[in-house]
Amino acid sequence: MAYRTVYPYTNEVLQTYDPATDAELEQALAAGHALYKQWRDADPAPRARILRQIAARLRAQRTEYATIMTHDMGKLIGESEDEIDLCAAIADYYAEHGPAFLQPQPLPTNQGKAYYVRQATGVLVMVEPWNFPFYQVMRVFAPNFMAGNPMILKHASITPGSAAAFQELVTSAGAPAGALTNLFMSYDQVSKAIADPRVAGVALTGSERGGASVAAEAGKNLKKSSMELGGTDVFIALDDADWDRVYKLAPAARLANSGQVCTSAKRFVIAASHYDEFLEHLKAAFARRKPGDPLDPLTTLAPVSSASAKKKIQSQIDEAVANGAQVYYGNEPIDLPGQFVQPTILTGLTPDNPLYSQEIFGPVAEVFKVDSDDEAVALANDSNYGLGGAVFSQDQARAEAVAARIETGMTFINQSLRSVPELPFGGVKNSGYGRELNELGFSTFTNEHLIVAA
Ligand code: NAP
Repeated sequence: MAYRTVYPYTNEVLQTYDPATDAELEQALAAGHALYKQWRDADPAPRARILRQIAARLRAQRTEYATIMTHDMGKLIGESEDEIDLCAAIADYYAEHGPAFLQPQPLPTNQGKAYYVRQATGVLVMVEPWNFPFYQVMRVFAPNFMAGNPMILKHASITPGSAAAFQELVTSAGAPAGALTNLFMSYDQVSKAIADPRVAGVALTGSERGGASVAAEAGKNLKKSSMELGGTDVFIALDDADWDRVYKLAPAARLANSGQVCTSAKRFVIAASHYDEFLEHLKAAFARRKPGDPLDPLTTLAPVSSASAKKKIQSQIDEAVANGAQVYYGNEPIDLPGQFVQPTILTGLTPDNPLYSQEIFGPVAEVFKVDSDDEAVALANDSNYGLGGAVFSQDQARAEAVAARIETGMTFINQSLRSVPELPFGGVKNSGYGRELNELGFSTFTNEHLIVAA
């Protein structure tokens, strides 16, 4: 597995990186474990100050970090900058609230004075994907750094520039050696790290396939794990939706990050009354996207992350069409050397179509027509995934009733799903388990230690 940066707009190899050695892994484990022992009983306030430093550096070097991400995986520079802002907000959030979350939490009981206190558990392995090269790392890093769990990062092989930059960011903000060690590891080294007695758990964000295999390693070694996996999120517009709002939000809900978001709206479930009109609006918005260099602020369609990602998306579209789906718009080649996929709208997907039960990680919208709330809910739940979703209706009680029946970890009403530091993030079913961000971001990897005094 080669770690290298290939700019998806030009296909130029910008940099290659040496793989981690076993000696480097051992050194990271030893440094992390020594730091864990030191941190376990230490005041978290200095760590909060370092998180503040990290936030400040992210803001000061916003364009520099954003450019590294765009070179790695091709996202629009404006989207990269937004990602850096969100990372700074997450670091600030845990710096501000982390110390209170780590205070003893009283528990009412007749057994005496009882409370639990969140304590560090040890070194964590963090396995992260390429689609948000800084944000995915920050979601795990900030709460665990605050809690006192040192981390070893295995980032995606196509985003090594971002991995190295994140490491540099943490170190330059004053974090001690071992707090976060980025290693360009093989899968075998990841397994070896998980099995090591100094490691307390593993957090993975990625595909169902990668998650299942890393979760199996964790299970075999009785290590805690959190799994943030794929999704086929629905965007449900009921007949009484504010349609102007729906038409405004739907295109970006699918095309942000060139459609490579776990919580992208992948299935649009549209009331029959507005189905035809919705398709026309979506098509017009998709057609307005301008492919080009993602570093140019005027570009509105970035390439997808790699040649293999493009190939996979195309093969899923081809298979869907061969099995009866109709191309309402798109699916034409884009005459540029980069890894571009034209925004595409598919209709007529039936349950026997392979794509119906797959996640498609690119700018491809699946649109369904429904006649009732029950039909919308049934379609939403007819998926192995359960990450997020959105429901649009001007009758809030109706929208909330529909939202409550959807089998997901997160459902937003009259807005597209977005991630903010104070709201928990995570899914159910094959979208994984565990929650990141918010106070719940501490749950998986701290020991919620009960103390009872008679
Ligand atoms: P992936 O292939 O599972 O890769 C994710 C990470 O896991 C990479 O670092 C990858 O390394 C590593 N990995 C995969 N198999 C492994 C194994 N057996 N042992 C050790 N490490 C392993 O996922 P992806 O295709 O890059 O990412 C896209 C997927 O992530 C989509 O399904 C998307 O929905 C999901 N995602 C979920 C969330 C969420 O929060 N729920 C957020 C973003 C993305 P290599 O790169 O070296 O293969």
